[in-house]
Amino acid sequence: MTDESWEIQMKIIMLGAPGAGKGTQAKMIAEKYSIPHISTGDIFRANISQGTELGMEAKKFMDQGLLVPDELTVKILLDRVAKEDCKNGYVLDGFPRTIPQAEVLDKALTELGDKVDYAINVDVPDESIITRMSGRRACVKCGATYHVKYNAPKAEDVCDACGEGLVLRDDDHPETVTKRLNVYHDQTQPLIEYYSKKDILKAVDGTVDMKDVFGAIVAILGE
Ligand code: ADP
Ligand code: ADP
Ligand code: ZN
Repeated sequence: MTDESWEIQMKIIMLGAPGAGKGTQAKMIAEKYSIPHISTGDIFRANISQGTELGMEAKKFMDQGLLVPDELTVKILLDRVAKEDCKNGYVLDGFPRTIPQAEVLDKALTELGDKVDYAINVDVPDESIITRMSGRRACVKCGATYHVKYNAPKAEDVCDACGEGLVLRDDDHPETVTKRLNVYHDQTQPLIEYYSKKDILKAVDGTVDMKDVFGAIVAILGE
């Protein structure tokens, strides 16, 4: 056995409604534990801005607040986690979003003698989601996310990280957010029970200040 096999492995899934704060927390986790942050939404948006075939296909669903079909999503995710930088773990943000996606991931990991270590549910009630989403501002260039009130950029509508202009995502307008919340309850929420049965579900209150949400997560994952 080489020394490498003793390295700490951390494979984390972020669960929660759209706008619950999964991305915000996943970025902080990635930084603290030195593992990659993998967001299927970011991968789709990068493909849309590059005008790839995958992007064009995904956009049809995203614009309507619907999920991108499992076949397409699963392939992208499995390719991504097979990359070298994922060997010590990763934090998945926005995947899985359906039971079949979770099953494919479990099967792929089982074949490698591996498993998901934590499924962290960031819990925020529907009432708070619409307000949060209408204030979210995103950088299409680097993927950074802000909030006009809770996490404002230094200069209005300019990304602190890369200087690009910030936008309100097309799918963050209230009509689409309501649709995405329904899709979440129908297709994604069942994952809470799925991971609870596997004994790896951890819930945190997502309504408190983002630093306190992170504190609760660190208490679970360890310093
Ligand atoms: P998700 O990835 O779950 O869709 P985000 O991390 O993008 O959610 O957060 C949604 C919006 O809410 C963003 O504008 C973000 O800055 C803001 N936000 C995230 N966490 C909190 C929090 N604990 N309190 C207030 N606003 C938050
Ligand atoms: P949010 O952070 O607000 O939850 P995401 O950036 O994760 O939003 O996702 C935006 C959109 O991308 C989703 O509404 C969906 O159309 C698509 N998408 C992202 N991840 C997945 C996935 N795992 N399965 C299917 N569709 C996905
Ligand atoms: Zn940026």
